[in-house]
Amino acid sequence: MMITTPQPSGNLPDRSIYERRESAVRSYARSMPRQFGKAQGVWMHDDQGGRYLDFLSGCSTLNYGHNHPILKQALLDYIAADGIAHGLDLHTDAKQDFLDTFEEVILKPRGLDHRVMFTGPTGTNAVEAAIKLARKVTGREMVIAFTNGFHGMTLGALACTGNATKRGGAGVPLSHVAHEPYYDYYGPEVDTAELLEQRLADPSSGLDAPAAILVETVQGEGGLNAASAEWLRRIAGIAKAHGALLIVDDIQAGCGRTGTFFSFEDMGFTPDIVTLAKSLSGMGLPFALTLLRPELDQWSPGEHNGTFRGNNHAFVTATAALRHFWSADDFQRDIGRRAALLETRLARIAAEHGFEVRGRGMMRGVNVGSGELAATVTAACFDAGLIIETSGAHDEVIKVLAPLVIDDAVLGAGLDILESKIREAMATDYAVAAE
Ligand SMILES: *Cc1c(COP(=O)(O)O)cnc(C)c1O
Repeated sequence: MMITTPQPSGNLPDRSIYERRESAVRSYARSMPRQFGKAQGVWMHDDQGGRYLDFLSGCSTLNYGHNHPILKQALLDYIAADGIAHGLDLHTDAKQDFLDTFEEVILKPRGLDHRVMFTGPTGTNAVEAAIKLARKVTGREMVIAFTNGFHGMTLGALACTGNATKRGGAGVPLSHVAHEPYYDYYGPEVDTAELLEQRLADPSSGLDAPAAILVETVQGEGGLNAASAEWLRRIAGIAKAHGALLIVDDIQAGCGRTGTFFSFEDMGFTPDIVTLAKSLSGMGLPFALTLLRPELDQWSPGEHNGTFRGNNHAFVTATAALRHFWSADDFQRDIGRRAALLETRLARIAAEHGFEVRGRGMMRGVNVGSGELAATVTAACFDAGLIIETSGAHDEVIKVLAPLVIDDAVLGAGLDILESKIREAMATDYAVAAE
């Protein structure tokens, strides 16, 4: 299968409004300078007749693709019936339906007795709630986060984020967080779980007793570093031994991205707190939540508040997605098959150029060793009709976040583009630079 997309030509409509009025903080629009109108399944369309295969999926907010017909119909029906639209944390038909379904389809079969806390609708809200609760319950201030971790842009979550550029925007000291080396930060020889254990056990290490250990099982923005189940189990054990709560930030890795609904399933530990957002609504609608063990539910009513703590439209699409994709095993089997295909293809690309494959499940990429090379490749992919982004400390990891519902053949066609654009880039500028 071939993917082609016409390049914009001739007289484009006037787009000067963006330069004139939209804040300079805009970012994705800079690497994808088109105007998008429609999207369906794995395809996005610009207003000049261009068609793009989406290997970004709204940064993993669209695991089920764009405008999935079942989710879309559920939302259209709900709006047509004058369903409640505002977001206060009232009890609504849509909320009950979501909670009943989430309990039946996700929590019960996985033996999780966690309570569901509706936070503000973006991921950073769920992280703020998680660390605030951990501090409140333990009476401790310090949170342990990890190198290359990404947890959001509000001050508490930003303090847990590693990236210096993002941190630099804070304007105040980011405090009460210790950044410890993640899984393989020092390479395979250094046991970072052992280092953490040593520092926490040593009363003179200078590391205060933590309220929580906050971890991603696969670091989405930080370069697709995937921790082993064994390392994560040990981190869970260390948290327990030292009276800290284990928070798994599953905002990007959850909702099926790594192959199971939660990224930590079948790993032999249960987080005290879990954050979910991104693909939770299934349709790109803002929706986040924080799961907490029942004994941690020590909030007083409204203590952590927010006007938009119940996006009813998102409840409707999330419920439809849970029912359609997660009530049986076939979707997980499909993800497994596609993930294997993705891994095989990326391994071939990596072997050809001496690169390294990163990640787990359908959250995988290839570390090309240079942000400049990665940017050249992703720009060439975009011109060829493939939307794909980078990740990592130097944006050196080309990251495949294809919709989980993608057809195997279409996935292959997208990877053909990636393979050829890497080959082309290597054959020109970078072959020389590498010598
Ligand atoms: C995207 C992301 C966040 C922040 O979510 P926002 O909706 O952008 O606030 C937090 N943690 C992880 C792991 C993420 O990928």
